[in-house]
Amino acid sequence: MLQSALEAARAGAATGGIPIGSALFIDGRLVATGHNRRVQDASVIHHAEMNCLENAGRLPAADYARATLVTTLSPCDMCTGAALLYGIPRVIVGENRTFVGGEDLLRSRGVEVTVLDDPECVELMTAFIAAHPALWAEDIGEDESDRP
Ligand SMILES: [Zn+2]
Repeated sequence: MLQSALEAARAGAATGGIPIGSALFIDGRLVATGHNRRVQDASVIHHAEMNCLENAGRLPAADYARATLVTTLSPCDMCTGAALLYGIPRVIVGENRTFVGGEDLLRSRGVEVTVLDDPECVELMTAFIAAHPALWAEDIGEDESDRP
C-alpha cells in the first residue's frame, strides 16, 4: 500500500512539487492516489492526503468506514481533520521522523495509526527540506525564521 503513496510522492517531486504522496484503499482495493500540489497549483489545501481524497471523489460514509488512508508523511492537522471528518478508521504513515502531525489525535479518536518508518520516505523529505526550507515551512504553516 505504501508503494502507491510513494509513487505519487515521486510523481509530485518529478513535477517540482513537495514530495509527499497519499493513497486511499477501500476493502484493500486502490481507489485513488494524490500528492502535494502546493507548488504545481499554488494550492493551500492540496496536501497529499487532501488531494487523494479529492481525487477519490464523493464517497458515502459507508465507504470511508472501510477505508485505509496511506500517506508517506505523518498527516498534518488539516489532513488529520479530514480523516476524522470522514471517519476513516485506519491511517498508514510512511515516516514521522521529519514531521509529526496529528497521530495522537487520530489515536485518541479510535483511528488505527501504523507508522512504517520507511527509509525512502525519510530520504525524500530530508532531501527536500534541506533544499527548500522556506517552502517546507510554508506547507506546515510555520515561519521559516522560527525553525532551527
Ligand atoms: Zn496535510
